[in-house]
Amino acid sequence: MNNSNELPYTKVVLVKYGEIALRGNNRSAFENRLCGAINKSLGGTSYSVTKEQGRILIQKKEIDDELDYDYVVKRVKLVMGIVGICPAIKTENQDIEHLRELALLYIKQIAPKGEFSFKVESKRSDKRYPIKSNEVSALIGEHIFESMENASVRMKNPDILLKLELRTDAYMYIDTIKGVGGLPYGSTGRGMLLLSGGIDSPVAGFMAAKRGVLINCAYFHSPPYTSERAFIKVQDLAKRLSDFTGGLTFYKVNFTDVQLFLYENVLHKRLTILLKRAMLIISERLAKREYCDCLITGDSLGQVASQTLAAIRAQSSAATLPIIRPLAGMDKIEIINLAEQIETYEISIRPYEDCCTIFVDKHPETQPKQDIIESIERQLWDKGLSDLIDAAVVGAERILV
Ligand code: ATP
Ligand code: MG
Repeated sequence: MNNSNELPYTKVVLVKYGEIALRGNNRSAFENRLCGAINKSLGGTSYSVTKEQGRILIQKKEIDDELDYDYVVKRVKLVMGIVGICPAIKTENQDIEHLRELALLYIKQIAPKGEFSFKVESKRSDKRYPIKSNEVSALIGEHIFESMENASVRMKNPDILLKLELRTDAYMYIDTIKGVGGLPYGSTGRGMLLLSGGIDSPVAGFMAAKRGVLINCAYFHSPPYTSERAFIKVQDLAKRLSDFTGGLTFYKVNFTDVQLFLYENVLHKRLTILLKRAMLIISERLAKREYCDCLITGDSLGQVASQTLAAIRAQSSAATLPIIRPLAGMDKIEIINLAEQIETYEISIRPYEDCCTIFVDKHPETQPKQDIIESIERQLWDKGLSDLIDAAVVGAERILV
């Protein structure tokens, strides 16, 4: 309760969600998940996050503890499944006279000089409220207009659009800040993201997370050929992704021995494809440990030699889990734009060496044949590849970020 004003109200944030409202029977489970994600994003335990008839309500648990709009908006903006965030005030008293006074006080705080055009929009979710929405808006608008000399009413594009929602309690707000949208995190299943330090894979992870996939990451490094700095960079990318997901599991896989073995045993033009297959095989084993339903990569069709359809086909049979490639149809500029928006771009462009680029041939095969690649892999399997892959899986370090 804010006692500094003569009229009592509480600062709260109302959250609007889109798509999940459409999902019939699952609706309640989705809403609960979304509440959980919001709670996590806010950290600490001083907030209460509850369902409020088609909205989610964030308020402070302690009645005297004032909510900081900026902090809540900054955190909640990153939560998957949210379309709008409204810093609002709440009052339990829905008496029309009280609402008129409160609206006036609220608008005076925002525009004390009163030189603005405005409109009031009301919504009743409980139709038992005795006055129709339009009349509520008119009664409130009239009071503001009569009390503030320089305020004018404008129906189209007003400076201030005051929204009133009559739910279990009454809420007023002016601004709606855009959220990231998508489905609540973790609501569609679990995935293992092959996360390199490049631009693409973090964006692929974000897109899968946005469709509700809970993300785990696998990162392949080849010490001493790749540095600790390269690892820190990937860890920073994972941390940034975890701002959207509220934490994630990260596997650091030592790939040196597999890589040296393949380097010594296959034609170099085939190295990239066999390395990718080894990564997929290891990732799948880690994925099963984490009960994942899919693997996720940052492949974009035709971007580089390893991403022709023939190459993708020759890689894919290494895994039995489906491989989701959210960037398949995007070009580099679109990917970079998104990387900038989610603030992974700055991290991705830090200079570093990737385990793949170190041994890689200048002219990799662009039209590899799946059966030939598979037969080469089979021949190497018992000659050491199988053991090296087992060792990489066993030695993988599990880190929580
Ligand atoms: P990115 O920008 O994501 O590194 P890229 O354009 O460099 O992608 P590739 O090197 O062909 O393309 O890699 C394709 C995908 O393979 C990556 O998006 C990633 O999912 C996976 N990958 C490549 N290298 C690694 C690695 N060192 N660790 C984990 N995954 C990797
Ligand atoms: Mg790369």
